[in-house]
Amino acid sequence: MTNLSPDLIGAAAGLPTPTGQPAHYWHTTGDGRVQCDLCPRECRLREGQRGFCFVRARAGDELVLTTYGRSSGFCIDPIEKKPLSHFLPGTSVLSFGTAGCNLGCKFCQNHEISTSRQMDSLAAEASPDAIAVAAQEWGCRSVALTYNDPVIFAEYGMDVADACRARGIASVAVTAGYVQGEARTDFFSHMDAANVDLKGFSDSFYRQLTGARLQPVLDTLTHLVHETDVWVELTTLLIPGSNDSDEELTAMCEWVVRELGPDVPHHFSAFHPDHRMPDVPATPLSTLTRARDIAHAAGERYVYTGNVVNRDGEATRCPGCGATVVERDRYRLLDHRIVVDADGVGHCPESATVIAGRFEPEPGDFGPRRIPIAIRPV
Ligand code: SF4
Repeated sequence: MTNLSPDLIGAAAGLPTPTGQPAHYWHTTGDGRVQCDLCPRECRLREGQRGFCFVRARAGDELVLTTYGRSSGFCIDPIEKKPLSHFLPGTSVLSFGTAGCNLGCKFCQNHEISTSRQMDSLAAEASPDAIAVAAQEWGCRSVALTYNDPVIFAEYGMDVADACRARGIASVAVTAGYVQGEARTDFFSHMDAANVDLKGFSDSFYRQLTGARLQPVLDTLTHLVHETDVWVELTTLLIPGSNDSDEELTAMCEWVVRELGPDVPHHFSAFHPDHRMPDVPATPLSTLTRARDIAHAAGERYVYTGNVVNRDGEATRCPGCGATVVERDRYRLLDHRIVVDADGVGHCPESATVIAGRFEPEPGDFGPRRIPIAIRPV
């Protein structure tokens, strides 16, 4: 859909010839260019050029992934930080990312990584097995592909997920969901959970502030919910004056309930002035609670506020009787009352109503820690 001008990123920019692991999801066009089919940008590359994401590049007559096996760093976090509130609550997750991104969000809250050129940010080398072994040694129940969008390093991410699955460790994708076709099906078949950004609900918002399109994201969400077993939660970063009107939020939440169902948790998080939007004020708590009210009114059952201190907006309530079944304080579980039956289904202890999610009989107790780690070769 959005292609690069031939000299935007490539040999003409004075960059070295790309090298990397052979990539999937591409074909040669009639005019001799190599087209990446992974995301809807469908970059068409001549020799030596890199895609918009910077990390997928043409080398000879092939597409390569230049960041395979290299990371911008590793950190152990609470799973609630991804954010995932209904997936193995209280457990720790080994987070890692690479560099680059296939979106160009003006409000990016992680732009040091997403806009970096990988030569100066990918200090850590780590094989898929080494990541899985580290997750096991640290007692993590899952690994998160996060910090930058993992679809652009899909081949590496899928190999990491396979190594983790072989050791009983789950994989989580934190993504904008801007991926298409065979790559979308393949990538998510390796994942156990995903937090997908639904950044707004108008194509003009996506075009103007992310450089992407809305419909492919909606297609990813319906694919995930209806055609996979991946546990899905949504995040919407509310930016004052851009995507926070009653009309847009109502349309978004009504679409979520109609197309995805009422049980997909939805996190509304606060924007902080950053990147190319330094003059937009931080999102007030009142906007987050208004969005939460709109989502509840539309029929969403599990709605959260994030990036602010708001115990009320962090709690999980039973959709049947309204009892608080999980209480949190900034990534710390204060109370966890979900009763998990023999089939692994969570229930409210008061009304026995099903609480949607992936739960274990005992929640984790990792707490709000953040532990940077190094990965050693295996
Ligand atoms: S993944 Fe990267 S190279 Fe491929 S189409 Fe998207 S932006 Fe272009």
